[in-house]
Amino acid sequence: MEQQPRNSPRRLAEHTKTARISCPICGNDKEFLEVADGVILTSHYIQNKDGSFTQDGDESEILGDITLFCGDCGADLTEYHQHFLDMLF
Ligand SMILES: [Zn+2]
Repeated sequence: MEQQPRNSPRRLAEHTKTARISCPICGNDKEFLEVADGVILTSHYIQNKDGSFTQDGDESEILGDITLFCGDCGADLTEYHQHFLDMLF
């Protein structure tokens, strides 16, 4: 006898983008490189009483293009970059 769970919190299958990215050239689906042009990296430091410094976070501002490459053969996979960002946790 099978019990049908009523009103079970069924997860909406909204993960339509679960397909893994793989390189169309070499098939690599493990390693990827993200390259950003024109990055301004700002680091915030606090000087301690003894004169040493402690980093208190940093922020980067990307001014240029971001390119996604296959980490194996170097093919340009930028068309997958949005997917990459969506799946980045
Ligand atoms: Zn590749």
